[in-house]
Amino acid sequence: MSARLGDDIDDFCVKCKRVMNHAVVSLLGDEPAKVRCRTCHSDHDYRHEQAPPPKIDPRKAAAQAEKAAAAAAAAADPDAAPAEPSEKTAPKGRKKASVS
Ligand SMILES: [Zn+2]
Repeated sequence: MSARLGDDIDDFCVKCKRVMNHAVVSLLGDEPAKVRCRTCHSDHDYRHEQAPPPKIDPRKAAAQAEKAAAAAAAAADPDAAPAEPSEKTAPKGRKKASVS
């Protein structure tokens, strides 16, 4: 089924926050690329009637990332665990010692 410019099409309108009647204003091949809401007249990419993912508060996301980074740093804290135990407990690490 191919769409044509000006066709009526159902799509999710971010302004109306629901699926509304839209007019196709731009095509990409046979697929609607952009549509215009018949109710609020806003143009947007055709969303295949899918609501956009919930918006993530950038400050909240940054705080969460910071928290995660702090947790990772705490996990890798050299005071909490012996520093580089692999070097001390590797008896076979003598590759450079026997160079004459
Ligand atoms: Zn709308």
